[in-house]
Amino acid sequence: MSLKSDSQDWLTSGYQHIWMPYTQMKTAPLPEKVVATNGTRIILEDGRELIDGIASWWSACHGYNHPYIKNAIASQLDIMPHVMLAGLAHEQAFVLSQRLAALSPGDLDRVFLSESGSVSVEIALKIAVQYWLNLGQVGKNKFVAFKNGYHGDTIGTMAIGDPDNIMHGPFHGLMCEQLVIDLPTEEGALAIFDRYLENHANQCAAVILEPLVQGAGGMIFHDDSVVRAIRKSCDRHQVLLILDEIMVGLGRLGSMTASELIGIQPDILTLSKSLTGGMLPLAATISSARIFDAFQSDDLEKCLMHGPTFTGNALACAAANASLDLFEMEPRLSQVHQIESHLLQALTVCCDFPGVVDVRVRGAIGVVQLTDLGDFYWIRRRFVEKGVWLRPFGNVVYIMPAFSIDQGDLTKVTDTMIEIIGEWSDQYVGKLG
Ligand code: PMP
Repeated sequence: MSLKSDSQDWLTSGYQHIWMPYTQMKTAPLPEKVVATNGTRIILEDGRELIDGIASWWSACHGYNHPYIKNAIASQLDIMPHVMLAGLAHEQAFVLSQRLAALSPGDLDRVFLSESGSVSVEIALKIAVQYWLNLGQVGKNKFVAFKNGYHGDTIGTMAIGDPDNIMHGPFHGLMCEQLVIDLPTEEGALAIFDRYLENHANQCAAVILEPLVQGAGGMIFHDDSVVRAIRKSCDRHQVLLILDEIMVGLGRLGSMTASELIGIQPDILTLSKSLTGGMLPLAATISSARIFDAFQSDDLEKCLMHGPTFTGNALACAAANASLDLFEMEPRLSQVHQIESHLLQALTVCCDFPGVVDVRVRGAIGVVQLTDLGDFYWIRRRFVEKGVWLRPFGNVVYIMPAFSIDQGDLTKVTDTMIEIIGEWSDQYVGKLG
């Protein structure tokens, strides 16, 4: 058997061997064959173009194939694609760390680089537990996390995600039990939360939260005041606060970090997704000077014993440095504000459709919540037929485009959302009748 795949049929032959993400491969339709990307377009093999309304899982914030990032990666490739970071150093990782420290609020000064969002959260959890151990406080090794939260698919991050998440359901026995509670969103609930934290402070290393928008758990928003109150409770009871800004950080809500927007500083911050402009995998776990100081010692055991093979990968760091340049050179944050205005104005009409539960917008995120998606293959197919790539999940149809999407493409995506949600709504009413 030739190991060379037949270029005509790489999809069907390769499909027998690849294991696709979040996919019931017995019943799912075959994925679309993509041959190229460009700007905010995904180009299919048969020549059709899809406007990407979700920027490749919320990462391609400058659009695809941005020449500036491509050039940065190509130049780095010529010199040195990768070298291990322990005992060796290279400019891209060191410059990037300095820049991330500069854009993070307060004294979030110390950057650990890894290769995915989930891993960056795992590292944050390890740092939090070891911080207390290094200070001589034994037993603080649990986390308070919130229902509808999502922090990744690894075993540690599943445990701090929503226990009802269908993606994580089968693994209950495998995960360490954590303190996953309702997110307190009003004064009374915040007061109860404060007492809860007080009662669990001796076993709790940190609270972890996706600030302002809980993403993969349903695109659910909460107010700045909630995060501020949680910060205060953490301070009062000597529990660290980890903010997972993997989705909302780096521009998505109109500022470089959500923490800055809220006006607080977490003890540990995680970033990924938009970090390389969606070109290469990279994530950062950024700790405060106070946290880092607790790892400074003459004792080797007090250092952070973590070192993934590709930590600080030079190509990925070059892409990230170029992506940060683009935030400085191109009007990304004002583009986010323009997208927000458009979404607010365009999606409101969906409020009147039967079966629509809520329409909400924050930054470059627009969400139409339905009673229930029903057949999500049908809805996805209808979007593709209309030349738009969206991937509704749970009970939401949402848009989270590249910040650089042009007005024509943005309008096409929102018009198509309105049209297809309208079709969904007609079917919904039909079922009621
Ligand atoms: N945290 C948040 C808030 C996320 O949105 C995601 C990814 N959707 C993750 C963590 C996990 O990141 P990754 O998929 O890169 O592991």
